[in-house]
Amino acid sequence: MSDSVITSEPPLIDPFGRTISYLRVSVTDRCDFRCVYCMAEDMTFLPKRDLLSLEELDRLCSAFIARGVRKLRLTGGEPLVRKNLMSLVESLSRHLKSGALDELTVTTNGSQLRQHAETLYKHGVRRINVSLDTLDADKFKAITRWGDFERVMDGIRAARDAGLKVKINAVALRGFNDAEIPSMLTWAHEQGMDLTLIETMPLGDIDGDRTDQYLPLSDVRAGLENTFTLTDLPDQTGGPARYVRIEETGGRLGFITPLSHNFCESCNRMRITCTGTLYMCLGQDDAADLRAPLRASEGDALLHQAIDEAISRKPKGHDFVIDRSGAAPAVARHMSMTGG
Ligand code: SAM
Ligand code: SF4
Repeated sequence: MSDSVITSEPPLIDPFGRTISYLRVSVTDRCDFRCVYCMAEDMTFLPKRDLLSLEELDRLCSAFIARGVRKLRLTGGEPLVRKNLMSLVESLSRHLKSGALDELTVTTNGSQLRQHAETLYKHGVRRINVSLDTLDADKFKAITRWGDFERVMDGIRAARDAGLKVKINAVALRGFNDAEIPSMLTWAHEQGMDLTLIETMPLGDIDGDRTDQYLPLSDVRAGLENTFTLTDLPDQTGGPARYVRIEETGGRLGFITPLSHNFCESCNRMRITCTGTLYMCLGQDDAADLRAPLRASEGDALLHQAIDEAISRKPKGHDFVIDRSGAAPAVARHMSMTGG
């Protein structure tokens, strides 16, 4: 991997004065699950030649770190199914050691965690997010189509044994897991894991109709308030998550409501796909190709130019709507392209 030295490039500040310090990088569009809200069962994935190599991903991430990105999240698709991903993690860990990067983290479905947890920890990863929508093995099979519940639970155990702090992410789905949320909360908090609930987002065509699944988190919160005492915590993420403390358990519960606009003004993030396309906003289709400038020369001058041009187009906010007419999704790409 390149051991390019981090130079002091100008920070990434968008036209609305927001500094970009958080980059989410999708390292593959492939996945060993087919969650019903995320993918169709019969997905066509990108040809391998379109993907950035691990070396190119390293160069791209390093260019952003040189521009002030301090937190990097590897996601997908399922990041841990990307071959040799651990070599990218190892190589990126040099930025943790140098102090240029505060955090290197991963969002995973947990299926491959048993195999990789210790290596992740060894290379400086300290916290990971594991997506888990139910604690019922049969329902887990139904929602992931291809997932194995016990394997994910084993992966979570391995991660915790390796010293990783685990946060559980669950998509809130009407008629699927709404009744289970209190028990998931108790389970997670008993083991010292935070739980974050995510509202479904209209990203990409799936086999079903999303309006059936959509469950506003305001309803979930109101329901939880019948059982638990929720205390709002100050926002520290600059992202779409709002956190509360559950007084009865002492743990934290997050609500990610991407359909509301209230977080856009503090947005500090951008997303890169595994083909090197930069999305300036999760909820907009506008994007910039960074693969061409990356491949055009060995130096990073063209790449930085393209990044500057892209950031000048970062929009003020997003255009999400769950369309009750059942029309096309607001954003054509699947979540597995940009990794959430
Ligand atoms: N495969 C990994 C995983 O599942 O954690 C990482 C990628 S996945 C796309 C990232 C997150 O996006 C997961 O927590 C998943 O539940 C969530 N997600 C996928 N499609 C979504 C949708 N349409 N609306 C809301 N969240 C979604
Ligand atoms: Fe795969 Fe994650 Fe999408 Fe589920 S949510 S299909 S695990 S990428």
